[in-house]
Amino acid sequence: MKYRSILLFGAPGVGKGTQGKVLGGIPNYFHCACGDVFRNLRADSPLGRLFIEYSGRGQLVPDEPTIRLWRDFLENNMKIGRFHPEHDTLVLDGIPRNVQQAKILRNTLNVSAVFYMQSKDENKLIARIQRRAVKENRLDDANLKVIRDRLQVYENETMPVLKFYGRHLVHRINSDQAPDKVLVDILKIATKKK
Ligand code: ADP
Repeated sequence: MKYRSILLFGAPGVGKGTQGKVLGGIPNYFHCACGDVFRNLRADSPLGRLFIEYSGRGQLVPDEPTIRLWRDFLENNMKIGRFHPEHDTLVLDGIPRNVQQAKILRNTLNVSAVFYMQSKDENKLIARIQRRAVKENRLDDANLKVIRDRLQVYENETMPVLKFYGRHLVHRINSDQAPDKVLVDILKIATKKK
């Protein structure tokens, strides 16, 4: 069975996590933030070390271990009764993050909408990321060089995912609005797609 899914898509700092958390609080939506799954790994485990190595440079973790971890996360959440694929919509945040991941997940996901969250102001994104560095103790958010590398990786590797899903699935969302307005814009579309 394919998982019914919506994708939160956009540059680092654009507010995917904020929206994902709120959406995940609505019955029958299940939020999965790939970065959070990585951050919950033990730092001394092999995958935890791999994550620190790549994310510390602003790079993506290689696809195979990323997808494996993501599948394990969902399976565990099914086992403990948090994720019910037969009636939940999966809210994906941070995955798929390149075209290869989208291809690997082609037979796993039934994507009904891609919310392309856009901000006109890159400086605002950078400021948000830097605030988050302190609050969430994130190594990859702490220095400007790594942030710029992540924005570049987003442009080069993640943006092509939009084309993979095609125009009919992609909905542009103005993420420079207040978070409640962004949420309304997303929900207006998501509720129609159910
Ligand atoms: P942001 O949205 O701010 O870029 P995330 O929390 O989504 O941050 O991701 C943090 C880091 O975790 C990424 O820079 C990357 O190293 C790793 N990561 C998260 N999701 C993926 C993924 N799908 N594929 C590869 N690496 C990932």
